[in-house]
Amino acid sequence: MNSADSLKYIADKLANWYTVNKRDLPWRDISDPYRIWISEIILQQTRVNQGMDYYNRFIERFPTVVHLAESDEDAVLKYWQGLGYYTRARNLHKAAQQIISKQGGIFPSDYNEVLKLSGIGDYTAAAICSFAYNQPYAVVDGNVYRVLSRLFGIQTPIDSSAGKKEFKLLAQSLLSTSTPGLHNQALMEFGALQCIPANPDCIDCPLQSVCKAYGMNQVTLFPVKSQKTKVTNRFFNYLFIRFQDKTYLQRRVARDVWQNLFEFPLIESDRLLSASELIENDSFKSIFFDTGEVEIYKISNPMKHVLSHRVIFAQFISINIANENEMLKQFVQVPFNEIDHYAVSRLMELFLENGDH
Ligand code: SF4
Repeated sequence: MNSADSLKYIADKLANWYTVNKRDLPWRDISDPYRIWISEIILQQTRVNQGMDYYNRFIERFPTVVHLAESDEDAVLKYWQGLGYYTRARNLHKAAQQIISKQGGIFPSDYNEVLKLSGIGDYTAAAICSFAYNQPYAVVDGNVYRVLSRLFGIQTPIDSSAGKKEFKLLAQSLLSTSTPGLHNQALMEFGALQCIPANPDCIDCPLQSVCKAYGMNQVTLFPVKSQKTKVTNRFFNYLFIRFQDKTYLQRRVARDVWQNLFEFPLIESDRLLSASELIENDSFKSIFFDTGEVEIYKISNPMKHVLSHRVIFAQFISINIANENEMLKQFVQVPFNEIDHYAVSRLMELFLENGDH
């Protein structure tokens, strides 16, 4: 059992630490829920340094929820290009439209109303309500799990439902009721800078004397996890087809990765295919039926792209054709110098940046 005094001691130490050590970030010390929301969604799977550039560009292009709601989804995806996890961008756009249609264009301040918006779960709703409105909702993100598991020596796996409940309750009981926004930010920042995953700075830690994991010399054993994420391998053969001054793109409709982004025509297989295997492949034959000579003049080096649950192995096959057929006309036909007008995955972007095709 954690006494109220010991919880207050920890909360006070965190607040003091934060005052001295917090980073100067563009979404810090503001109370605009829209900007806080954008920063939280960007930072969900992105490091702060990379996220900062995206945040600044995004806010410049979509300064208010109205600007975001009134833009095309494609424009939003274009500004998200390279960040990955594109569902986040699609949900931002959808939620902005919900704020216009259901909340009269005013960002809601009620926790349950915030929670109803697309793409907003417990964590983001608590962050918005506590940072923007100073409401007493505890945030629990990866940093918070790590810090609390170490401080209190909690063995319950953080990826179990019992663990989620236990950490949520503990975070809520630790929350300062007078300054919940500051407290939440202090705890997260402490996890990001001091109590980091590998080699935390325990020697200079203001909470060392009350830290259970440190006391047991078991810091590296926390937080406890029950499962490893299962990762599947996928193999993408992208067809970079040249006909006169144009190539072909398609919008990715599959819901697995990169939904709604553009990509070259794709043949997925159980391994990367050689030129002779491609020529024998049924999908390849149907794409190039009746196009006259099909010249495969280059196959890129294999590229490995790691996503959270998948590793994508890809290669880009550069192809010249003599004629265009009906099949190719169904793709989006794009002049070479306009490919960058389309939102594409980071993998496609890397290939295009390379220029050797
Ligand atoms: S003593 Fe080490 S493990 Fe414990 S809270 Fe401080 S930095 Fe984290």
